[in-house]
Amino acid sequence: MDEIKRRDPRKEHILRNRLHPQYDEMAVDHDLLMSGGTNRKNPHKQGYLSAEGIKRIDRSGAAVAAAGVAKKQQEQSLPLRAIVNPSNYIVVFSDSDSAKLTVLDKDMLGLAHSLADDGTAVVMINLHSREDDLASAGADRALTLDAASYSPDSWLAVLQTIDSELFPKHWIFADGTLVGGDLARRLAVSLGVRPVTRGKLYAEGTLNCSGGDASKSVNRKLSRILLVEEQVADPIAGFITEASSLDVADVAGVIPKVTDLGGVAVDPADIPLAETRFILSGGNGIRNWALFHQCAQALGATEGASRVAVDNGHMPRTTQVGATGTYVNAKVYVAVGISGAIQHLQGMTTCETVIALNTDANCDMIKRADLSIIADSSEVMQALVDATSGGKGELDDVG
Ligand SMILES: Cc1cc2nc3c(=O)[nH]c(=O)nc-3n(C[C@H](O)[C@H](O)[C@H](O)COP(=O)(O)OP(=O)(O)OC[C@H]3O[C@@H](n4cnc5c(N)ncnc54)[C@H](O)[C@@H]3O)c2cc1C
Repeated sequence: MDEIKRRDPRKEHILRNRLHPQYDEMAVDHDLLMSGGTNRKNPHKQGYLSAEGIKRIDRSGAAVAAAGVAKKQQEQSLPLRAIVNPSNYIVVFSDSDSAKLTVLDKDMLGLAHSLADDGTAVVMINLHSREDDLASAGADRALTLDAASYSPDSWLAVLQTIDSELFPKHWIFADGTLVGGDLARRLAVSLGVRPVTRGKLYAEGTLNCSGGDASKSVNRKLSRILLVEEQVADPIAGFITEASSLDVADVAGVIPKVTDLGGVAVDPADIPLAETRFILSGGNGIRNWALFHQCAQALGATEGASRVAVDNGHMPRTTQVGATGTYVNAKVYVAVGISGAIQHLQGMTTCETVIALNTDANCDMIKRADLSIIADSSEVMQALVDATSGGKGELDDVG
């Protein structure tokens, strides 16, 4: 007797709901059985090939994970730039406290390689320890300083020691950062070097730098100390480096002129959007803006916004995140009622953890998020305000 094909309503129910816990399991190889017994292709199946041969987007994360493995394998097969006895050095200093390398870190390393010849080693000095792969970003040598407390005198002493031991051809710092920008200027004064500041773009031996008037720029010859901004050069590509550790003589006997008295509470509203580590961003799905502000204050977050929220007059233009707003680099980005348009996502690509709060489970922000809450914005913001103990950023143990 012929085998009778039967429909499975439960499976069909799961396959219609991408958020069902068993969806991924079912979608892997399950096609749809129609009422007439015809076996139809399931267009939502992961890796489904359309009639035109176009592969559908795989939202399971499997393709992304596979791409990550493939990227790693590809990197391992790239040629290694090994410098045994460097004839010269270029030092890149990063004060970022993010575990991942920032866009600016990669651009600074790219600039260092544009300036380095075959015998020049690019040294990356990190103020905080990093988890990212420094070899694929272009560090020939790496050194991490002790940043347990704010100690510019001892950090400067380490840089001076490195300068006298290696006499680097160039020092490269991020201009706008508090510690790096300050240390660069301290080092420049102590070495008697006139630094090149606000470097925007390197080309053919000169740095195009912002002028005093923001609308003007000026080409400057390179100096030993370069202070640069994002996109000054392209990150490296096509090779990997050793990222071996750099040994420097211990620097002892520095009598600090600055004493670290510990952290000082700051109003998150005063932190520039591009520098803040925690952003609560509101979009067109916010129904109660007073509650949004209350929630941001209760959580100790800096406020951001989508363009629609700004255009509708709910938020100032300075808070707009995105391609035509500010590019942010937060550790935690909470998007409340923001659909995730490409122009908005562009401004937050480097955020470490994204939490989306939205009523639409299929919106692009939910696809981008590491954690999603499918609920009404006002309900969740009210719950967050209620869960705080009154102190900024302090959540009660709710259980
Ligand atoms: C040239 C150009 C440049 C642009 N630059 C930028 C830019 O820099 N930054 C930017 O943000 N946009 C920019 N845009 C606009 C962008 O395309 C989108 O229109 C905009 O980001 C959408 O904002 P939104 O997500 O807040 O609004 P919507 O797209 O209206 O989305 C609102 C979201 O809220 C959700 N929602 C509704 N009610 C609730 C509720 N009660 N609780 C929870 N969620 C709810 C909805 O499901 C939806 O996902 C640009 C557009 C152009 C053409």
